Amino acid sequence: MNRTVAIVGRPNVGKSTLFNRLIGERKSIIDDISGVTRDRIYGEVEWNGATFDLIDTGGYVDNSQDVFEKAIKEQVKIAIDEARVILFVVDVMTGITSLDEDVADMLRKSKKDVLLIVNKVDNNKRLQEVAEFYGLGFADLYSLSSISGSGTGEILDEVVERLPKEIEDAELTAEQIEEMKIPKVAIIGQPNVGKSSLVN
Ligand code: GDP
Ligand code: MG
Repeated sequence: MNRTVAIVGRPNVGKSTLFNRLIGERKSIIDDISGVTRDRIYGEVEWNGATFDLIDTGGYVDNSQDVFEKAIKEQVKIAIDEARVILFVVDVMTGITSLDEDVADMLRKSKKDVLLIVNKVDNNKRLQEVAEFYGLGFADLYSLSSISGSGTGEILDEVVERLPKEIEDAELTAEQIEEMKIPKVAIIGQPNVGKSSLVN
């Protein structure tokens, strides 16, 4: 059962800030300089009794623009393969960039569950600028201020809603557990050719 959620987006939009806030500790490095998060960082999130795995993507260590964009797209591809739900983070302060559009194209084509997260919405004035991001073509858009945490609850509710349900042992009856232990092997053959000796 895949309960993995990945955070993707171009550098400096606040992916690592969001990651740290959701996992509740400072595991991913946040920096003003683009490209500080090395590789992928894994964490676990707990929300209202549910848990899921969260991946922060980054690892854009080369400063050349081409390699940079290639690395971002590579991370998006991996996220599409691995994650059940993708959080696509954009930045209200910069507006939509061409790299945002490229990532949006990849995600739309993948048909994955994507929540578009418009980050850095720290005040009401910025809230008015969120609507432009509907232009990226995602119906599910959430505004967030990763720095203050405002907006995280709604996002977490929606993520948990979209993940496959966790099945805990306690929810199964003793009979169901017993049933799961019996190997389901059908023995097919002519009557009276020694089927019972096969079983014994
Ligand atoms: P990443 O490259 O996408 O992982 O971005 P980071 O999490 O490293 O953040 C890049 C910069 O944006 C840092 O200076 C953060 O403090 C800043 N930042 C992140 N979230 C917010 C936010 O909600 N509001 C504001 N104003 N700045 C933010
Ligand atoms: Mg980062």
